[in-house]
Amino acid sequence: MKNIDTKQQNNTTIKGKVLLVGAGPGDPELLTLKAMRAINEADIILYDSLISDEILAMMPQKSTKICVGKRCGAHKMSQIDIQKLLIASAQKYKHVVRLKGGDPFIFGRGGEELEYLQAHGIDVDVIPGITAAAGCAAAAKIPLTHRQYGNALMLDSGHTQFGDFEPSQNPTRVFYMGLKQAGLITARLLSDGLHESTPVALIANGTLPNQEVHSGLLIDLPILAERYSASGPALIIVGEVASFAAQNQTQMIRQAVA
Ligand code: SAH
Repeated sequence: MKNIDTKQQNNTTIKGKVLLVGAGPGDPELLTLKAMRAINEADIILYDSLISDEILAMMPQKSTKICVGKRCGAHKMSQIDIQKLLIASAQKYKHVVRLKGGDPFIFGRGGEELEYLQAHGIDVDVIPGITAAAGCAAAAKIPLTHRQYGNALMLDSGHTQFGDFEPSQNPTRVFYMGLKQAGLITARLLSDGLHESTPVALIANGTLPNQEVHSGLLIDLPILAERYSASGPALIIVGEVASFAAQNQTQMIRQAVA
């Protein structure tokens, strides 16, 4: 491992920004242009063992590269050590890339890294990647949704952080095309036992310059959907993770509704 001091973590010394970058399922042509640009500009790249050899071969010579994944040599780094190394890297370098297989926020611990880095005052951006479900299904010509054969998609983890398996207890629900039905969705979720204070987020024109992210509570979802229905194509995210949106930006609809 490179000689980076992880002990001193005073955010007054921070030089750089961390990009959490998704590398897609392996085929280098499934890297996004944005991911490729981030890789090319990186001073240091901390990557997982899922990153394919073809993508490794495309990394610039000038950058420092550290494999932090499970299958990278004899010494597996713990998650906390990876996070500390990210902070130390941001203290030393301007452009820090944390490269992950697939998408950083789908079973990639990107959320944990985001929280940790932000708690230490480090600027973070996230570049999504094609997640394994989308990439592998396309490669196998399996349509993950189909109007006749399947109208919902569940991405589940086959193991918990303790190494066993449990059916998911608090799944994140993402509704496409749901704005007009927000009242019905809310009623159904409440009758299914979700608490009315379950966080929700509504994202319109996501990733575009006119992106809007609005967050609130499940009970307010119909108001939120009505208020922003003219904004453009929108997704509704329901679940504890939606509270990340409230922390990161946005108006709290509760304040507006109160
Ligand atoms: N963040 C990643 C998933 C990380 S979990 C993503 O969004 O895809 C790692 C698991 O993803 C692997 O154990 C395997 O189940 C799946 N996976 C990732 N890349 C894959 C590939 N190219 N082919 C098949 N499965 C893959």
